[in-house]
Amino acid sequence: MAYVALYRKWRPQDFDSLVGQEHISTTLKNAIATGKIAHAYLFSGPRGTGKTSTAKILAKSLNCEHGPSVNPCNHCSNCDKITAGTSMDVFEVDAASNRGIDEIRDLRETVKFAPVDGRYKVYIIDEVHMLTTEAFNALLKTLEEPPAHVVFVLATTEPHKIPATIHSRCQRYDFRRINAREIEERLSMVAEQSGLKAAPDALRLIAIQAEGGMRDALSILDQCAALDDGSVITAAHVRQLLGLIGHEWVWQLTDAVAERDAHSVLVKLDELINLGKDIRQLLVELALHARSLMLYKAAPAIDTIEVYSEDKAVLAAQSAKFSHQELVAVLEVLHHAANEAKWAAEPRIVVEMALITLCRRTAKSDMAALLERVAALEARLAGNPAGAAVSRVKPEAPAAEPPSSVPRVQSPVTPMPPRPQPEPQTPLSPPAPPPANPSVSAPPEPSGGSIGGDLNEIWSAVLKELMTSGKRSVHACVMQGCLTGLTATQATVHFTATFPKERTEKDDYRTIVEKILAHITGHQVKLMCSLGTDTPPAKPAAPKPAVAAAPPDPGMEHPAVKQAQMMFGGKVIKIEE
Ligand SMILES: [Zn+2]
Ligand SMILES: [Zn+2]
Repeated sequence: MAYVALYRKWRPQDFDSLVGQEHISTTLKNAIATGKIAHAYLFSGPRGTGKTSTAKILAKSLNCEHGPSVNPCNHCSNCDKITAGTSMDVFEVDAASNRGIDEIRDLRETVKFAPVDGRYKVYIIDEVHMLTTEAFNALLKTLEEPPAHVVFVLATTEPHKIPATIHSRCQRYDFRRINAREIEERLSMVAEQSGLKAAPDALRLIAIQAEGGMRDALSILDQCAALDDGSVITAAHVRQLLGLIGHEWVWQLTDAVAERDAHSVLVKLDELINLGKDIRQLLVELALHARSLMLYKAAPAIDTIEVYSEDKAVLAAQSAKFSHQELVAVLEVLHHAANEAKWAAEPRIVVEMALITLCRRTAKSDMAALLERVAALEARLAGNPAGAAVSRVKPEAPAAEPPSSVPRVQSPVTPMPPRPQPEPQTPLSPPAPPPANPSVSAPPEPSGGSIGGDLNEIWSAVLKELMTSGKRSVHACVMQGCLTGLTATQATVHFTATFPKERTEKDDYRTIVEKILAHITGHQVKLMCSLGTDTPPAKPAAPKPAVAAAPPDPGMEHPAVKQAQMMFGGKVIKIEE
């Protein structure tokens, strides 16, 4: 007898052996038991989750000689033919290879005839989203007036590609990914019944790698069995077959990153490359492991989450070495690197950059970084020259080094890379936001004293805040002035036109600006507006163009134009008669 692939041999033959889709088998069993059979079903879900198997079980339930029954007998001639794929009443169309309208036209012709052996004709159209528009239209005509003896099962991995007209005529069932534990149980049953010896951690690894697809899981087990010489299938076999890096490497590298030991990270990386491991796969597995650590740290008691690293002792030990923020940052760096590595000519450089960046992260939490920034800001506002030195420490350095500065490991002659020079450590967390609460700032200055700081910079920050908070009309008005003086109690804004000055002085606009100034400076300052035709000397950068500097145009000198400009400010661009 020819070899039958495990996934064929162990294809579920009744609703009770359908793994992980209880919500669907229960509903379908009810429909069969009560005779409420729909004319069209849409089975959607990831590959290998049992869509076509369920369609065939449904066909057998309807056509079994001892049925209709929720438990098809699986030994009568109708059941046998359906299982073998030789039934004259069950049609399987693979839309991926038969996209054409001809197949659907043929289908429409045969739909009319009564079933040969059973009670129903069942049309299973797999990957139905692949049909052309014309084929969909032809199918729709049949679905609009289906003969009583016909049941359509449309299966798809991409339900969003099904036209709404088709969708609305189907009962939809969503097949879910089968969880790793269910797959593992099934694998261990299949292995036992097939006389395959497999280590439990090998089966667990297959179950995780199958990503919710039972067919993939059984195929991997099949390949492991073929690769094997009859001895026990081990996790190492599975890793070799799938090109996986493996826990031991991932754990060692994670430990080295936790210790900020760039030297041993690079040595291990070099060993991995010499072993012929795929460096992109390394990023994937490191990220999966970091995710496991993050989940474990957040909720160590949760047992149902599928984690990549199932060893609780390792999870406990390693998750204690990172803060939550660090793990999030580690994941961000790894995801970014995984994307880069896809297209990089030298993915090794990308991985080296990522790992060295991780080793050079700071231990500081976001709160520590925030407090440091606040201290720097206070020092600067107080006019303390030391503030400049403090502010240089604030996290603004680039997160990654340029590739040229990454020490390349020369393999295999010199496996020991130079130890990276100690440099200021690079923080992984994004720069902390400015202090949100003015109360954490310095205590109020003696009234009237200048509070220092660059007026242009502060004014830019005010205008920017107006824009980002969506106060565009306030911004359009206030931006025509500029900040010419700032003490702990008063801010002076100078305008060259009457209208924006007077508008800004009104309570609503003034309050908004005062609030933002308080937020930025940490002082409750009163807003004072001044008016004058000259550009104030206190604002050296980007002075408003004086009227005289405008291109010579007799219209510009017209008294009405001058008056309008005086009132509204701005620049005259064009004068129409
Ligand atoms: Zn039967
Ligand atoms: Zn494992």
